[in-house]
Amino acid sequence: MTICILVLAALCLVFLGRTFFRAVGNSPAQTESVSAVSQSAEAGTDQEVPEEPDATPTPEMINLTEDMIHTGDLILVNSSYPYDFAANESSIGLVNIRGSQSFYYQVEKTDYEVAGRMLPSLDQMIAACDAAMGTSETGITSAYRSYDYQQNVWDTTSEQNGEDYARAYVAVPGYSEHHTGLAVDIGIFYSDGSQGSFSESQNAVWMDEHSSEFGFVRRYAEDKVDITGIRNEKWHFRYVGLPHAVYMKQNNLCLEEYLEYLGSQTSAENPLTVSTSSGTYSVWYTSETSIPKPSGDYQISGDNIAGYIITVRV
Ligand SMILES: [Zn+2]
Repeated sequence: MTICILVLAALCLVFLGRTFFRAVGNSPAQTESVSAVSQSAEAGTDQEVPEEPDATPTPEMINLTEDMIHTGDLILVNSSYPYDFAANESSIGLVNIRGSQSFYYQVEKTDYEVAGRMLPSLDQMIAACDAAMGTSETGITSAYRSYDYQQNVWDTTSEQNGEDYARAYVAVPGYSEHHTGLAVDIGIFYSDGSQGSFSESQNAVWMDEHSSEFGFVRRYAEDKVDITGIRNEKWHFRYVGLPHAVYMKQNNLCLEEYLEYLGSQTSAENPLTVSTSSGTYSVWYTSETSIPKPSGDYQISGDNIAGYIITVRV
């Protein structure tokens, strides 16, 4: 008898439940709101049940393309990951340094170019270095290199100094950071037109210490040779932008290590927070090809491996 009453009561509850959901309407878009309403009704609250529950707003999504893996300020170009010329063709935005620099500083060859988006930061870094030194001797000895140009550098270096030397100091064509338009070699230019040794200058010491404030990193350091595969180069600086350069400098990470860290330790739910003098940023890695559009100022860069780094100013 008791069992019969319990079964009857259970059937009644199921029937009433179904009737309630039909009455409110359970289209897919409303399912979440409906169950929220039924939960609060069950909890015995006396809130009014809205006649037309608002549908949960659908976030605006953005698509991340295959090409975007290979473009942006954080792309890794080394002996394992070649530069993707085709993917960058429309976005690299090369400008002639001499024609676009915001103040005069020496450029070894007048046809040198860099990605236009980093030139203002390069100008500021050189101006700040010169101001700190009290001279006007900081200049550029190498900038963007096409595939053919790098082939030429490789051939000339190996002819003059042997293949072992070339392998240690010159990237194989297609695998040079100079292809990105985001890397420059810095030099010392005296007023009589001759060049000095940047590596032995105080400018090199200053730039190693301060380049990150302008979004640049000294890419090939002595203690990272095992990772980068390139010997200590005090003159080669790579633009990665803010806040990445600041975090890499503070934590002594080369680009390979930084991307490895972002890829393994961060996500949209668990971003890296970096504070700089110009603001605070959230940074995370994703390999998703469709993500909710971040709110506010954001940037997306590929890692040139398999995913994307999202940087949002908070
Ligand atoms: Zn270089």
